[in-house]
Amino acid sequence: MSTEYKTLTPKLIKKLWLAFGFLVLLMGVSYIFITGYYANKYNKATIQQVNANVANHVIQEKFSNASPFLEDGSVNKQLFGDLMHDMMAVNHSIEVYLLNDIGEVLYSVVLDNDSSVTKTVALAPIKKFIAADGKIFIEGDDPRNPDSKKIFSVAPYSVEEKKGFVYIILTGEDFLNISENLLSSYFKQLGFGATLLTMVFSAIIGLLSIWFLTKNLRIITNTVIRFREGDLNARIENPEGSDIEVFAHSFNDMADTIVDNMEKMKSVDTLRRELIANVSHDLRTPLAILKGYIETLQIKKDSLSEKEKDNYLQITHDNVDKLSNLINQLFEYSKLEAEQISPIKEPFSITELSYDLIAKFKVIAQKKEIILTLDCPEENCLVFADVSLVERALQNLLENAIKYTDPYGAVTLSLSKLSKNIEINISDTGTGIPVNEQPFIFDRYKQVDKASKQGSGLGLAIVKKIMDLHETTITVLSKPKEGSSFVFNLPAYQG
Ligand code: ADP
Repeated sequence: MSTEYKTLTPKLIKKLWLAFGFLVLLMGVSYIFITGYYANKYNKATIQQVNANVANHVIQEKFSNASPFLEDGSVNKQLFGDLMHDMMAVNHSIEVYLLNDIGEVLYSVVLDNDSSVTKTVALAPIKKFIAADGKIFIEGDDPRNPDSKKIFSVAPYSVEEKKGFVYIILTGEDFLNISENLLSSYFKQLGFGATLLTMVFSAIIGLLSIWFLTKNLRIITNTVIRFREGDLNARIENPEGSDIEVFAHSFNDMADTIVDNMEKMKSVDTLRRELIANVSHDLRTPLAILKGYIETLQIKKDSLSEKEKDNYLQITHDNVDKLSNLINQLFEYSKLEAEQISPIKEPFSITELSYDLIAKFKVIAQKKEIILTLDCPEENCLVFADVSLVERALQNLLENAIKYTDPYGAVTLSLSKLSKNIEINISDTGTGIPVNEQPFIFDRYKQVDKASKQGSGLGLAIVKKIMDLHETTITVLSKPKEGSSFVFNLPAYQG
């Protein structure tokens, strides 16, 4: 896994290098061939242009001061032979031919000794050359090499009504051999030098561009590796406007989400551990008390008075109540938290429910000499909610109100009609909650004063979950030593 990540960039660089190398090679080879082709053409074109008038010159010079080439219709071989020898002695690379008007070779020195020479030359290039006054690059037939084309100079003659051409091949066999040798040697040097130079420059440009192209990729890879190796703060810096902006933002967002989730999981884990510790503590205390009293009853059953026995049994009974209460709350809370409960909403009378609850809690309140009252509008208030969940929430709130109110205090449950809602308020004149603790009382197991802990710490957490299920919120107004009031709204049922 880790090697895969680490070789990602070198692999890409290798591929880029290969592509680049191939390109340079292709460029070098193309360069050599193109240069070779044009160098050869340039060479021939230059020779042709320079010697364009040679044939004309021959005719003008030799016709004026000597007997004509043709005498009585046949070639003056003596004269023409001398002329050709003269010329070819000066320039070995030319071959002179005398053609008639249809391109047939009438005479040539080479013709005499060489039987492979073709007897006709195509007239089209000759005419083109004459029409352009020798100012174009054109190749014509080579009588000695019928398969190849050669540059030439040509001029027309007209003697005693006989017409024809003096046709001079400018790059004869000798020239070609020398030219080929020279060209291939220069060509090798040129090709080699040019390719080498191209490769050096290409390598420099290639290195720079590969470095530049893979710069962003390296940043991404390094950041991902850092993140994977545990640096949770690793992010792709300043991606705005760069070509990796979209990717960088996606990665940064993903990293943020992962970190957030990890933190959430950590806090859930901490809370779960706290919960287990608290639950085991809460279960252990009443269990230890139970065990102690039961053992005393067993050991001293004969020496204990009836009154003492009753007292001990009452204590065990209270602790069993406490235990079952705690277990019920835990069960309820875990079901709510696991989202196993979905509210079954229906219209019901919150007024009736409130009367029932007041009646139920009256006894406990009276025991503590607390005045428990219901303050509600005369008309029946209907709400649209889950009746058993709302009952559970109200029970928890009333229980707390009575629990945290000293004797002779007061606890009031009041209902008021708002435009679309019914406001429910449970207030007491009890101990109150310090302001700095108020935001946390709805968290699981948060108890303001752990030392004087009287409950499971789950009561308000359950209330909060029930409010969430009804998409409403509960607020607390409390002043230490003056009392508290818990307020929430439920949607009124417009029947
Ligand atoms: P507990 O089982 O400890 O009562 P709760 O979740 O019901 O747990 O309440 C959390 C804490 O909020 C309590 O420990 C208590 O400190 C505080 N509290 C709740 N209701 C009241 C109230 N009416 N008056 C004063 N303090 C309260």
